[in-house]
Amino acid sequence: MPHTIPAAALRQFIAGKWEDGDGAGLASDNPARPGETVAAGRQATAEQLERAVAAASAAAPAWSAVPMHERGAVLLRAAALLEGSAEELGLELAREEGKTLIEGRGEVARAAQILRYYGNEGDRPAGEVFSSPRRGEQILVVRKPLGVVGVVTPFNFPIAIPAWKIAPALVYGNTVVWKPASTVPLLAQRLAEVLDGAGLPKGVLNLVMGPGALGTELVEHPLLDGLTFTGSTGVGRRLAAAGAGRGVPVQAEMGGKNAAVVLAGADLDLAAEQVMFGAFRSTGQKCTATSRLVLQDSVADDFLARLTSRLQDWSTGDPVDPSVQMGPLVSASAADGVRRGIDEALAGGATLVFQGVLPEEAGDAFIPPTILELPAGQADAEANPAWADEFFGPVLAVRRAADAAQAFEWAGQGEYGLSAAVFTQDVTRVLEAVEGIDVGILHVNSESAGADPHVPFGGARKSGYGPKEQGQSAKEFFTHTTTVYLRGGNPA
Ligand code: NAD
Repeated sequence: MPHTIPAAALRQFIAGKWEDGDGAGLASDNPARPGETVAAGRQATAEQLERAVAAASAAAPAWSAVPMHERGAVLLRAAALLEGSAEELGLELAREEGKTLIEGRGEVARAAQILRYYGNEGDRPAGEVFSSPRRGEQILVVRKPLGVVGVVTPFNFPIAIPAWKIAPALVYGNTVVWKPASTVPLLAQRLAEVLDGAGLPKGVLNLVMGPGALGTELVEHPLLDGLTFTGSTGVGRRLAAAGAGRGVPVQAEMGGKNAAVVLAGADLDLAAEQVMFGAFRSTGQKCTATSRLVLQDSVADDFLARLTSRLQDWSTGDPVDPSVQMGPLVSASAADGVRRGIDEALAGGATLVFQGVLPEEAGDAFIPPTILELPAGQADAEANPAWADEFFGPVLAVRRAADAAQAFEWAGQGEYGLSAAVFTQDVTRVLEAVEGIDVGILHVNSESAGADPHVPFGGARKSGYGPKEQGQSAKEFFTHTTTVYLRGGNPA
């Protein structure tokens, strides 16, 4: 039984050695089982952070000189190791973060897939060749690593998001100092263990665990050459400003308020299934989760009946129970914030369309799937917190639009532009959505969450700062270019 599993010991990884933290106590708790500690240890101190950055800096020249094929080979070995332990790590992930066992295992498998994609980077083009206007010359554009890259990651994908930052950072020749979210340190440790076990040279990856303040110290470190961050908008903007002030490139993927639009003529059953997945899988704690639903008036009642009927069979509970579809939020305090948001939305005129039931033993970290319909008046709806704010929980805010043009306009309201989903069988409407909804990721007839590792990922407008992540886009952040005007001697 999971509750008999002893707490794992948390360690920092600095200069190729595992060591205890020298700071305050650090523990991750199982949000589904109050009082159950998943992992415990101590935070890293400023002195340990200092040694981690120094180690990354010392390791940088030699690592950048290793051929990309060899750097990739380490990632390929790590991918195989991760796949081999997907069962155990998936369980640890479910216990530490609260997503279901299936999602936890799926996330570990996704992390392995990402490592494999970048592990094969040595087989892909490494630069560009341009023709020169001068005889006897070619112009090459070669890529070089930034140097020491800081990686600051959020709680909600404790292994996949770090993998999609660390794998490209390493394969393009950078060294890394990583500060994960302090609610999910165990999964961070597991990824670092796997990379260590795959043969990463000492100092190339360093892991320091602790609160946001440790992240600030990392960002402000004079030896840092780049920072990749994923997390909330406020923190991301502060870090981007800090980087800009020192001329350090920053990549920041931040919040979202992602809409699904269901139009007349859509396959309503498919749409209901996909909206349910988009809004409630991972307890709504995906940056790309669906939190706004815009329904064309003529199909709104029919659609809501199908969606709520599906949700009747959606069970919330302990995420390690295989019959459960949705676990708790990451913590009771995260759930408190979402509960406050729901109360404010109701006080602002929203009505409750649906709320699932929780098992009797559910603790304070649980919130059932919740659907709120916003008031019909435009100003009231747009000011409602369920429409305007990222709750980061299982809450869906619904509005009814007269036609597709109004629905697309509403879907794009506000400063976020991460992802959206459009449900329609009309190709003309699809093309209008592609033109008219300004997001980084657009799904047509599938849920707003979901991203493949070989294609660009990231937000438009205020959801993202700097180059996109994943696929070949990652190169834009983790390398800079040198343009080489290449001539031999004078032509004979
Ligand atoms: P968060 O911003 O609270 O924390 C993210 C990381 O930043 C953590 O490691 C945290 O310790 C660190 N941090 C916090 N304050 C800091 C500071 N002052 N200086 C330096 N580091 C600091 O975010 P979270 O609650 O872990 O994650 C949820 C948020 O992440 C949501 O807003 C979600 O939309 C966003 N997110 C975005 C994407 C994306 O790709 N756009 C993906 C996942 C999550």
